[in-house]
Amino acid sequence: MSDQIEALSKMIDDSDNIVFFGGAGVSTESGIPDFRSTSGLYNQKYEFPPEMMISHSFFMSNTAEFYCFYRDKMIHLDAKPNAAHLKLAELGANGKLKAIVTQNIDGLHQMAGSKLVYELHGSIYRNFCMKCGKPYAVERVMECSGVPKCDCGGVIKPDVVLYEEPLDQEVWEGATLAIEDADVLIVGGTSLNVYPAAGLLRHYRGGKLILINKTELPHERNAVLVIHGSIGEILQLL
Ligand code: ZN
Repeated sequence: MSDQIEALSKMIDDSDNIVFFGGAGVSTESGIPDFRSTSGLYNQKYEFPPEMMISHSFFMSNTAEFYCFYRDKMIHLDAKPNAAHLKLAELGANGKLKAIVTQNIDGLHQMAGSKLVYELHGSIYRNFCMKCGKPYAVERVMECSGVPKCDCGGVIKPDVVLYEEPLDQEVWEGATLAIEDADVLIVGGTSLNVYPAAGLLRHYRGGKLILINKTELPHERNAVLVIHGSIGEILQLL
């Protein structure tokens, strides 16, 4: 392990164009459950299956039930950035890390101080009226029971990419360009099985792919460095 940390440390020292691509594993260390893991949300009992409840069609047809589940399981306002978020923010402030691409919707990278974060699946902190477009803070969504409504009477919808919905084109293009241009690409806390997000890796041509994950990944043969373990603990050692 210490050799691997040393190798990681050297690659970071030698680069000023690093991109980090992260998944649910980055947030689990802040106490946010990974809803795709076996102990995660998908295996919990609810009236409807979670995959169905966080779909666009369910949002449109069963908005109150959607919000019930969403408030209960998807929003974790007490969560704080962990060692991984803090180290990445530090690398950004030092001019080494150019961008973060994340599949998480919890805003913890920004809370840690990271500036350029491509949120592929949106953010719980942005909410809009579907009728007039007025933005609302997450508190508005949390404070009322039932369906949160705009002053104009329209339904407020979180800016979170639900199943059946496309990713935001601008975010996708920004993330693609950052990965295309990256010298070092660090992929952490993701099992790389969520498409289309995982397909972004195909755009990387830097030849210095680093994978940090608790379990084995399908892309390991393409990586110059693979470290199995907790992303927070590993980054903290740098
Ligand atoms: Zn409105």
